[in-house]
Amino acid sequence: MAATSILWFRRDLRMQDNAALEWACENSSAVIPVYIYSADEEQPWAPGAASRWWLHHSLLSLQSRLAGRRLKLYYFSGSSEAVIEKIIAETGANRLVYNRVYERQLYERDLRLEKNLKNSIDIVAFDSGLLFSPGTVLNSQQLPYRVFTPFYNKLRPQLSELHAYQSAETNDDALKALENKPVSSARSLQSLQLLDEHGWHEKLGLHWRPGEDEAHRLLDVFLEEAVQHYATQRDIPSLEGTSRLSPYLHFGEITPQQVCLAVWPLLEGEQGASASRSAEVFVKQLIWREFAHNVLWHFPETATLPMDRRYRKDFWRSDIDDFNTWTKGETGVPIIDAGMKQLWETGWMHNRVRMIVSSFLTKNLGINWLHGARWFWDTLVDADLANNSLGWQWVAGCGVDAAPYYRVFNPNTQTRRFDSELRYVEKWLPEHAQLDYPSPMVDLGVSREDALHRYKQHIRV
Ligand SMILES: Cc1cc2nc3c(=O)[nH]c(=O)nc-3n(C[C@H](O)[C@H](O)[C@H](O)COP(=O)(O)OP(=O)(O)OC[C@H]3O[C@@H](n4cnc5c(N)ncnc54)[C@H](O)[C@@H]3O)c2cc1C
Repeated sequence: MAATSILWFRRDLRMQDNAALEWACENSSAVIPVYIYSADEEQPWAPGAASRWWLHHSLLSLQSRLAGRRLKLYYFSGSSEAVIEKIIAETGANRLVYNRVYERQLYERDLRLEKNLKNSIDIVAFDSGLLFSPGTVLNSQQLPYRVFTPFYNKLRPQLSELHAYQSAETNDDALKALENKPVSSARSLQSLQLLDEHGWHEKLGLHWRPGEDEAHRLLDVFLEEAVQHYATQRDIPSLEGTSRLSPYLHFGEITPQQVCLAVWPLLEGEQGASASRSAEVFVKQLIWREFAHNVLWHFPETATLPMDRRYRKDFWRSDIDDFNTWTKGETGVPIIDAGMKQLWETGWMHNRVRMIVSSFLTKNLGINWLHGARWFWDTLVDADLANNSLGWQWVAGCGVDAAPYYRVFNPNTQTRRFDSELRYVEKWLPEHAQLDYPSPMVDLGVSREDALHRYKQHIRV
């Protein structure tokens, strides 16, 4: 029987190194590429405004790449299972092929869907999006890692075994022979209404171009200009010292395998010892990403609850006025206000500044990390449940392998160390140069002492 495969795109919006795409094209006579927007299935973490903007443009980019290979991307919204049932009924498709997503809720949705549809369709699913599937990385007691360094030490030696699917040419041939099956129940991309009606997102296009081509261009630029100095420059927010690949990795426009393989020659010393050390530091960040996804996989509650149970009750404040002042970048602390403006203008913030602004919110202001995580969720183009939860809980001191409670980032010291000439501050906060720039909303020294006292009292150290 001729196989008609539904190729279900999710967080794998790319053509290269895409196991599901490869497999579907090589093993089917017709392929129906689909994207189903099912925000309700992602609640309470349905994509935020910046993510939806990215998704819209990433789908456009994928659509045009698929069209170049004579395939049409079909859009749907609503219940994934109901949509797939409808496509089966309409087209007679007999296979569903996809790359897995490891957020528990979505993973379990997929398992339910597999169970319910197994009598009407064959299902073929592939690992994707991470270097190692979560659940496969366990310590010697077969338990999940809760501390990064041993996790890193376990994974790092295994990186040399990585590979990416690289059969783009065979793929082209396979694709040319494919039959195109129309699906009349599909909707338009516009009807998914991913773009916020307030138009906030319009400026994001000045800073980003979603899609696979751009992901590879940025990787090339990073390899050419920055990775060699990553160890020393990655903490300087005024420099283009990091890869900016985070949204592309989140949406699966590029894979961590492709990124690792690209830096491999540097790791091996091709450009000298210093470049090799820098590449090592960079790869470590990719392993932080793996760690974050492993933590979320094993402890899905980490997205909404402090991992350290002592912080689950009666600890955080929820002052809405202070929180709003922080979101608007009107705290009177220049590096924080600059960071919040960068986020608002570009949908991204430098990692060093993410740590400073989140420390200020959770420690100096004592506000619940979850409020900050939600704001980031709505405004970051790279909003990622695993990385965002880990980042916030790390800074707030309530996560796995978190910063100790007494580590309160001093924004002024951080500015002197990482933005001594105020290039970052002046870029995002030109008004800072004016004499009447407001003074900090809280005294940094007093609020630090208050935070230490609050943490100590609460955990009784
Ligand atoms: C409070 C807070 C919230 C954060 N929220 C997110 C988020 O929602 N999405 C997100 O992708 N990252 C998040 N991070 C991690 C980090 O800030 C970003 O991954 C990084 O700034 C992205 O820029 P880049 O791609 O240039 O990173 P690079 O320095 O070039 O690093 C390469 C890749 O490694 C991964 N990575 C780097 N640092 C980390 C880290 N600390 N934890 C996990 N993975 C990392 C990212 O995928 C990144 O693209 C957060 C950090 C903090 C402190």
